[in-house]
Amino acid sequence: MCQNCTPVDQLPGEDAHLAIVEAPQFKFNQEHYDKIIDNKPNRTMVYKETLKPHSGDAFLVKKGQVIRAEQCNDDNVAQILDWMIISPNLEEYLSYGHSAPLEGPYLKKYTRCWSNTGSLHPMATMVADEVPEEFAEKGWSKHFWMFHCNPEWNQAAAPQLHPGHDSCHTNFMQGFARVPAIAAMPEQEKRRTIEFLANQCNFMTFQVFRTGWDDEAQDVMMDLRPGPNIPKGTGVEFYAEQDCYFVISACPWADMQGDLGEVEVKPVEITVWETGIEPLPRPVWKEWKSDFYFQMENGIREASPRTEESYNYVSK
Ligand SMILES: [Zn+2]
Repeated sequence: MCQNCTPVDQLPGEDAHLAIVEAPQFKFNQEHYDKIIDNKPNRTMVYKETLKPHSGDAFLVKKGQVIRAEQCNDDNVAQILDWMIISPNLEEYLSYGHSAPLEGPYLKKYTRCWSNTGSLHPMATMVADEVPEEFAEKGWSKHFWMFHCNPEWNQAAAPQLHPGHDSCHTNFMQGFARVPAIAAMPEQEKRRTIEFLANQCNFMTFQVFRTGWDDEAQDVMMDLRPGPNIPKGTGVEFYAEQDCYFVISACPWADMQGDLGEVEVKPVEITVWETGIEPLPRPVWKEWKSDFYFQMENGIREASPRTEESYNYVSK
């Protein structure tokens, strides 16, 4: 055993994880969110839109406002939604990499949606989950952090479909393209931007999912299942911690109760509400980018281009 090794009952990783999640920047003030939830009767509607089937769209939600997505079809189909969030100046966007480890693999009431490294703020917090518990049996969830369907997956699942058939990926591209700062870009830059952003991980609502140990497979699994029907009027809500665009896709798999191309994708009602309650101060971090670039520019970190000649090739 090496001298620096710690005994196994004191795994250093456990302390490191606790040191992160118990830092003041990640402290959760439930009282604040309960006040927002209790104040629901006093909210005023700002706007009402429909997320159309086979599309993605961008919904502006200003800080202190709530966005609500509500199932509005008469067939009680649980239309799956895929969500991204981005700030109007494009500097902050939803980070699966931060959110899932900090908040757990499933979204529920009080789950915070964190932004990318370099910002790392909660962008939005879930304040209502009206999906009935029986939607997902024990061990399964209703909303979760994940990736989304895309032209390649859908081509694999349904090779007969036209390549222009929508996917959450192309719906996200459409939604991001409608964000004013992206819409104003020259065409090539706009395309690079919407393709990069649509390639990020996201979260999904109204979809049955589980992750965890599976006895049969003897492995950790990630499984999706078709969603059972839910009553018209069922909604989820997120409180915006800062001004942001929610970019939402109406997944072309609808509720997954049929094959892609056979299922009927449903519209979803989107409303935005003014709560009159200001967000809490955002977590404060030390600025680190200037140090990094100073190190790169001053030879403290090696920054020369990696040409073929720069490697220590071993000659035979
Ligand atoms: Zn999808």
